[in-house]
Amino acid sequence: MNIRSVCGYCGTGCGIEFDTDRLIGTIDYPINEGMVCAKGVSELHTIETTDRLLRPHLRKEDGDFIPIDWDLSISSIAHHIRFSDPKRIGIYLSGQMLSEDYYVANKLGKGFIGTNNVDTNSRTCMASAVVAYQKVFGIDYVPVQMQDIDHCDLLILVGANTADAHVVFNNKIQRAKKSGLTTIVIDPRRTETAQQADLHLPIRPGTDIDFLSLVARRIIDDDRADVQYLEKHVNGYVQYLRKIKKIPKVKLLKRCGLTAAQFEAFMTLFYANENIISAWTMGLNQSSQGVDKNLSLINLHLLTGKINKRGNGPFSLTGQPNAMGGREVGGLSTTLAVHLGFDDESIKKVSEFWQTDKIADKAGLTAFEMIEAAERGELDLLIICHTDPVYHLPNRKRVEAALKKVPFIVEINAYDNSETKSFAHLRLPAAPWGEKEGTQTNMDRTITRQERLTRRAIDCKPDWEIFAMIGKKLGFQKAFDFEDAAAVFKEYQEMTRLSERGHLDLSDLDQGSLRGGAYVWGKQLFENDEYFTPDRRANLIYVQNERLSEAVSVTHPFILMTGRTRDQWHSGTKTAFVDKLRKHRPLSFIEINTNDAKELKISDGERVKVSTKRGKLILQAQVTDAIREKTLFVPITERRINYLTNDLLDPYSKQPDYNHNAAKVERL
Ligand code: SF4
Repeated sequence: MNIRSVCGYCGTGCGIEFDTDRLIGTIDYPINEGMVCAKGVSELHTIETTDRLLRPHLRKEDGDFIPIDWDLSISSIAHHIRFSDPKRIGIYLSGQMLSEDYYVANKLGKGFIGTNNVDTNSRTCMASAVVAYQKVFGIDYVPVQMQDIDHCDLLILVGANTADAHVVFNNKIQRAKKSGLTTIVIDPRRTETAQQADLHLPIRPGTDIDFLSLVARRIIDDDRADVQYLEKHVNGYVQYLRKIKKIPKVKLLKRCGLTAAQFEAFMTLFYANENIISAWTMGLNQSSQGVDKNLSLINLHLLTGKINKRGNGPFSLTGQPNAMGGREVGGLSTTLAVHLGFDDESIKKVSEFWQTDKIADKAGLTAFEMIEAAERGELDLLIICHTDPVYHLPNRKRVEAALKKVPFIVEINAYDNSETKSFAHLRLPAAPWGEKEGTQTNMDRTITRQERLTRRAIDCKPDWEIFAMIGKKLGFQKAFDFEDAAAVFKEYQEMTRLSERGHLDLSDLDQGSLRGGAYVWGKQLFENDEYFTPDRRANLIYVQNERLSEAVSVTHPFILMTGRTRDQWHSGTKTAFVDKLRKHRPLSFIEINTNDAKELKISDGERVKVSTKRGKLILQAQVTDAIREKTLFVPITERRINYLTNDLLDPYSKQPDYNHNAAKVERL
């Protein structure tokens, strides 16, 4: 029988298997039913790349790295931990890590070092959705599954380009369309997803809340709100009504850059369809008002009662394969573990479980807050695991300057070509996808097991083992005495009993069933529409567009947005060298609208200078009608992109505002 595993790229989480010498989609895996995208089938190349980091390396005083052994590496980290104030230690994790990796790193940081500065790059991806769900439902819970698409009549995608970012999920959407599903895409770009839709609304960047508030107001004006549902299950309707009645409708529609006819087309489809799912990703999340954007969309479901019914609900799509698993385990600095917070009772429960007295009583620093702390000289040690913050955090010049002030940076990575490499003092070789095993949770709460497909490179170790070695070196022998990934998962399973009302309880789960199988946690969690708030009612929260993003000006009149392209993964560490994957789109380009290009005398293919207040890049122009006027797009495979982006953060989720940068573009 083939070895069955799961793809380690996007949040779809397709089942794939190793068939003699190639990867194929697993036919009987419920998520993808045999479908797989070009990235998924090329994962084997990521093991074979020559750009692997294969030995621990320590930076010498002259700046060069020398290979060292594991024992010295771990002793050196333990030494720095022992002599640092826990508050001055940061651990930065990744949605690419498995839940076992996350579990041990989190246990070490929050439980035994005593720092809650344990955050993940998922902060930059879906933290806004987490906070919005918590505010509305009282818990971080995605109440929709991918299969719901087959029972849905209308899918509204807001700021989500599934054709590029979640290819197999998009294939499912296209298949459902053949059976009658209608789709609407709200996006300033006419992406492939938008081209496939029944209606595309090319909204002006930064105006999602305006548009969604107009929809809410219209629902109320037309008496289409489900008042019975609101009265029974939702708080805040009366206050919401008072405020939404006052919105300036004409002004908001104008601000959205849409016509009345476009708005009516949306409402016609909204009213014509019974079962409605909305789905979103970075277009809403990566914003200085990301949480509010999420709330304004979730509000539509509460207002109409289109939630907790098959084929209905608000569906946040996660970018990375195990962003959801990280949330569950405790990989965000704003949660302790298994969705628990830092209240006394939660700390007590977790302290007893881990047999420790070191847990600090308030949330730790989030991703960019660690950079700010470094900037102030308040970070002594930063351990970075399976992620490349110099490449992906916003305002790169600022990030680089801040990291130069950190006395000791440890980079744990499977690859040797990160942008963070130049700032690391110690580099440890991690096992990549295919050389390790463990579990991951996809965007709809489906847990599956990644399997080891090949012999592990001799000096590489899975992340959980590296963190366990540090724990043991610090003297916490018993707490980190895990024999293998299965033992880590077993302990995590026990811990899930502590989750509120056992909503995450996996203690009865047979680990063996995850081999090529799928387990969905939290089915029917909101049975009878009872939520996890103190009064079991959802919260309807009025929000308005505060326009907190960077404003355009005469000198910087464009809005620069960023995003994925179909066959590449983030910086291209794992995909850029695979010839087959390079065919879809170049790694670096800038999309500019045809009329803007004409005005600036820019021709298609010409190299142009794009600049923001923070930096400039020379990029090749792609002149197209598929982007709104005064809007630009650069893919995140352009490794220098974050020299341009701003470092504004959402005040609640601390997620960066990658998609709203005032920019200028000019001929060379
Ligand atoms: Fe992997 Fe996502 Fe492609 Fe599925 S859609 S094969 S999970 S990258």
